[in-house]
Amino acid sequence: MTSVEQSRHLATAIPGPRSTELMARKVATVSSGVATTMPVFAARAAGGIVEDVDGNRFIDLGSGIAVTTVGNSAPRVVAAVQAQVEAFTHTCFMVTPYEGYLEVAEHLARLTPGDFEKRSALFNSGSEAVENAVKIARKHTGKDAVVVFDHAYHGRTNLTMAMTAKNMPYKDGFGPFAGEVYRAPMSYPYRDAKDMDGELAARRAISQVEAQVGAQNLAAVVIEPVQGEGGFIVPADGFLSALVEWCHANDVVFIADEVQSGFARTGRMFAVEHEGVVPDLVVSAKGIAGGLPLAAVTGRAEIMDAVHPGGLGGTYGGNPLACAAAIAVIETIEQDGLVERAQQVERVFLDRLHRLQADDDRVGDVRGRGAMIAVELVRSGTDEPDPALAKAVAAAAHAQGVIVLTCGTYGNVLRFLPPLSISDDLLTEGLDVLVAIFGESR
Ligand SMILES: *Cc1c(COP(=O)(O)O)cnc(C)c1O
Repeated sequence: MTSVEQSRHLATAIPGPRSTELMARKVATVSSGVATTMPVFAARAAGGIVEDVDGNRFIDLGSGIAVTTVGNSAPRVVAAVQAQVEAFTHTCFMVTPYEGYLEVAEHLARLTPGDFEKRSALFNSGSEAVENAVKIARKHTGKDAVVVFDHAYHGRTNLTMAMTAKNMPYKDGFGPFAGEVYRAPMSYPYRDAKDMDGELAARRAISQVEAQVGAQNLAAVVIEPVQGEGGFIVPADGFLSALVEWCHANDVVFIADEVQSGFARTGRMFAVEHEGVVPDLVVSAKGIAGGLPLAAVTGRAEIMDAVHPGGLGGTYGGNPLACAAAIAVIETIEQDGLVERAQQVERVFLDRLHRLQADDDRVGDVRGRGAMIAVELVRSGTDEPDPALAKAVAAAAHAQGVIVLTCGTYGNVLRFLPPLSISDDLLTEGLDVLVAIFGESR
């Protein structure tokens, strides 16, 4: 494993001279459309620390957006990828298949919810996998329409831009978008009326879908069981199960986009397990392969096998290095007890953040599951979103050596996604820094 000292350390002002130099080269060579959260360039990372090119060490509360769940350069992942890179790097599974792809599919069949025959197909990115899940559902049902939700994020390709809710920065000026995508109201406990429980919220969504789309035209309902970019919104209990029930009564494929919430992130292997919900198709990506590009669609054999031979695939989908990494990630999650670790991380965060909320009425809501926790920031004593505060707190944290990300339709949510290899000491120190920033900004 890359050896990186597990402590926060500021060697220079942030950004330091070497990062400043590299940022000037970035501006000269990389499209300005590709923006960065942090003003520093990475040199090494492991455990709970990212070290930059000037020797500054940051506490990592972002995991490269929920990807390095097992930690950066996790030992089993490094060993597995090294062995694979020496054996072969690529044959294309559609040309000369290899066993690693099958092993990943076998693990996915075992780990995803549902006690039925399953199949998987592997891809390169979350967006590509979501697109393929929709293709599969359309082929299986012979129907076209797709329902997604307010605040949803499903990716940046043409179809998934249409499925994503937020205009700026994901969609603005990039249309026209793919057709037959319809948006339904989400269950958003913090902003819904107080008597709006999960079942009522599901009824609100379903009646809108029945009136505006019609189940006879609907191939799939696609939902993030805990919304990611949209603000870590956890729907009220009963919302997801009522949707699945309606889907099954109406020949509609229920697709869980677990790209961000899957693979131990929420304190279960998949977030739908918190509610005992069994999707027809599950989409995985981010946390699945420790940073190597891999994504998957897994689900009921009769749906997955509805596609004609050759209908699914791609040059790199299920690349052997990414498959080797995924097998090592799964072994790490299971042998190191990382599902339980995510539950411990939840307790550390919620305890501290609830205390912060009690002292600071700009913390409107504290929510999330496992190591996927967020605070929604509002103007004092109101529920009016305060994106400027979220931005200022994040920037101050970055300057003090803590990586935190923002999200939310209104940009007013701070989200925490630490690697599960982080120590409690680093977690507590990261939270200390944040709580102090809130105190100073009052
Ligand atoms: C990140 C994300 C995607 C898109 O994944 P990419 O690998 O960036 O294409 C899709 N859905 C959800 C829920 C995500 O968080």
